[in-house]
Amino acid sequence: MIVGWSYYAYVIQLCIGSITDIGEKVVCVVAYHLFFIMFAWAYWKTIFTMPMNPSKEFHLSYTDREILEREERGETQQEVLRRIAKDLPIYTRTLSGAIRYCDRCQLVKPDRCHHCSVCDKCILKMDHHCPWVNNCVGFSNYKFFLLFLAYSLLYCLFIAATDLQYFIKFWTNGLPDTQAKFHIMFLFFSAAMFSISLASLFGYHCWLVSKNRSTLEAFRAPAFRHGADKNGFSLGFGKNLRQVFGDEKKYWLLPVFSSLGDGCSFPTCLVNQDPEQPSTPAGLNTTVKSVGDASPFPAKPLRESQSRLLINGQSWTESDGGHEEDKHGTSNPAMVIENET
Ligand SMILES: [Zn+2]
Ligand SMILES: [Zn+2]
Repeated sequence: MIVGWSYYAYVIQLCIGSITDIGEKVVCVVAYHLFFIMFAWAYWKTIFTMPMNPSKEFHLSYTDREILEREERGETQQEVLRRIAKDLPIYTRTLSGAIRYCDRCQLVKPDRCHHCSVCDKCILKMDHHCPWVNNCVGFSNYKFFLLFLAYSLLYCLFIAATDLQYFIKFWTNGLPDTQAKFHIMFLFFSAAMFSISLASLFGYHCWLVSKNRSTLEAFRAPAFRHGADKNGFSLGFGKNLRQVFGDEKKYWLLPVFSSLGDGCSFPTCLVNQDPEQPSTPAGLNTTVKSVGDASPFPAKPLRESQSRLLINGQSWTESDGGHEEDKHGTSNPAMVIENET
């Protein structure tokens, strides 16, 4: 409703009804529509892109579910889960070192995946559930969400900037006494107010992208086998940016899907130090196909993009703490399946 009203107030009341100079009128209407189209496009994509859920291999088979339900001891349940997780590209654990498991969806949670209590589903690389778009912001629409913030900020700044002189006229009684003057006044107020809140939210998310953290991870650092590490998924500024926006610059500013990976697993500099997990896949020299050109959610580009993102990166040398944690899981009787929501 606010967007609809802003269109009416700006185009009809301000541009057509109040601006007298023809040149200014045309420039304002044309430029406004450019901002409006980009904003509406990104907004639309953020709202209507379905959040992605973990793929089949993360779900427990019927027999495993039965075993898990039969077992009462957390320790044995963990053994079952560890056996399942062995073949999955999972590097994160709960803070106590247990396999992350979702009780409601009955699946082993992929890295960075969280259960959304509003959607009642596990959402890949869940960022947060956003009431402004009535949708979960996660792997499938995070780029759209960022562009939505950017374009709505530009939209508001453009309106505020071009409306400013008429807003001043309103207070100096320079406007004719029609209903347009109230639209002009409220338009400036709301554009300025939204600009301030959007700028701070957009700034925060730019910082998150540069650090490769989701909002949830900013509040609680993901735990790896060597412990919680808030920089666990960070690969350096350039690669962090490319993970969200993709390799092809021409797609960066458009709300089309171009994020790298499949959302189920993410490159981490700690990967190669994890003895339980398969190492970085071979075939680093294979020709990399553009993610932007592929289907919206490419089935298997992750391996390639993962390798690509890691190939130039220096692996961190992990201190020798890896073995202890291996036993940690089995010897801790207090260990239970932990559910994070
Ligand atoms: Zn779940
Ligand atoms: Zn949600």
